[in-house]
Amino acid sequence: MKYFIWALLIYVAWRWYTGSRQVKTDQFPADARQAAQSPDSAETMVQCARCGIHLPASEALIETGGAVFCSEEHRAA
Ligand SMILES: [Zn+2]
Repeated sequence: MKYFIWALLIYVAWRWYTGSRQVKTDQFPADARQAAQSPDSAETMVQCARCGIHLPASEALIETGGAVFCSEEHRAA
């Protein structure tokens, strides 16, 4: 029981420590957060019609009919 209390104390201290660090990093890099939210860095994910894998739209093969594939092999299949 004594060890459990110590473990709980360490856990609470760790949560408090990591939580206070997260608040600081949230307030600090406003430019970095804006960059992460900009449309350029947020890439649309699409799903391969053959195997169902998700991949960025820039790396996908999109047919004229609208079907999306991850590779030339899956487009041909
Ligand atoms: Zn595929």
